[in-house]
Amino acid sequence: MHDYSLEQAYIMKDRKETLDIVERAYEEARKHTCEGHVATYIPELGKVNPDQLGICIYRLDGEKICFGDYNVRFTMQSISKVMSLCVALEILGMEEVFKYVGAEPSGEAFNSIAELDLNSNKPYNPLINSGALAIAGLLVDKVSFYDMIAFARRICVDDDITFNEEAYESEMKTCSRNRAIAYLLESKGIIQADVEETLKFYTKLCALNVTAESLANFAKILASDGVCIKTGKRYLSGSTVRIVKTLMLTCGMYDGSGTYAIQVGIPTKSGVGGGLLCVSDKRAGIGVFGPALDDKGNSVAGIKLLEQISEHLRLNLFFDPDWDDLINKEKLI
Ligand code: GLN
Repeated sequence: MHDYSLEQAYIMKDRKETLDIVERAYEEARKHTCEGHVATYIPELGKVNPDQLGICIYRLDGEKICFGDYNVRFTMQSISKVMSLCVALEILGMEEVFKYVGAEPSGEAFNSIAELDLNSNKPYNPLINSGALAIAGLLVDKVSFYDMIAFARRICVDDDITFNEEAYESEMKTCSRNRAIAYLLESKGIIQADVEETLKFYTKLCALNVTAESLANFAKILASDGVCIKTGKRYLSGSTVRIVKTLMLTCGMYDGSGTYAIQVGIPTKSGVGGGLLCVSDKRAGIGVFGPALDDKGNSVAGIKLLEQISEHLRLNLFFDPDWDDLINKEKLI
C-alpha cells in the first residue's frame, strides 16, 4: 500500500529499498545467462565466459549501486557508436551529420547491407554499422584515435580504458561485411575519407575496454543533459544529448528496439561485447555487462535485469506502477 502525494510520486526509492530491488533483479537475471551465446563472428569475443553479469547504477542524487561483474573489462563494440555520434555532433553540428546519415529505425540487423543499397542513399541511423561507418568517415581526418580514447576516458570517468589489440586484430581479420558496407558507402559518396582508414578507425573504437561502471558514468552524464551534476562541468551540449538519447530509444537495440522499448522503456545502446549503456533521464546512469547475447546481438540476462529494475525502480518512461496505484485509488483525481 502506498500513500504518495503528487510530488512524492516522482521521488526515487531510498537506498535500502533500491539495493534490495537491484539485488533481487540481479539474482533472478543471473539465471538467464545460459539462454544466450557469446558473439563468435569476432573470434576473440568467443573466448569470453558467457556466465557473467554485472550492473552499476549511478543515481543523479549521488547514490552508486553495483552488483556482480560490474568491474570486469569488456569491449565496447557498438556502444562506441554513441560516443562517435556525440563527438560528430559536437564537432560538425546536427545539420552536417544528418546529411550523411538518417534518424530512423532500420528494422534490420545491425550489420545489414541490402536495404542500404536497395532503398536508401544513406544509412538509416548512426547506431547501426552502416551509420557508424558513415560517422567514422566524417571523423577520421578530424580527430585521432587517441583523441577518441581521451574522450572515452573523460566521459566514462575511467582512466583505465585501454585499446584491446587482440579484439581489434581479430575483428579486422573477419570484417568483410563491414568492409563491403564501407565501400558501398564510398560508392554513394557518403564516405569521402579513405575507406580502409575509416574501417580501422571504426573497428578500433569498438575495441575499447570498458566496464559496466564506466558505462554507468557515461550514461549518468547523458541522463543529466551533458552536465556532471556534482562538478557542474559540461561535457556535451544539450542538443547533442537530446539527439543521442532519442536515437538510443528508437534504434539502440537494432531490430529489437521496439520490443525493448515496450519491455524496459529506457533509452539504451547495446554492444556485442555484452554491454548495455542505459540512460534513465534525470534519474540515473546505468551500465550492464552480460556477454551472452540473443539472436539480435543484445544481452539476454542484461535485458532481464533492466526489465525488473525499470519496473521496480520506476524508471520506465511509459509505465509507473506507483502512478497506476495512485490513479486506481483516485488520489490524483
Ligand atoms: N564491432 C562490431 C561490428 O562491427 C560491433 C557490432 C555490435 O556491437 N553490434 O560488427
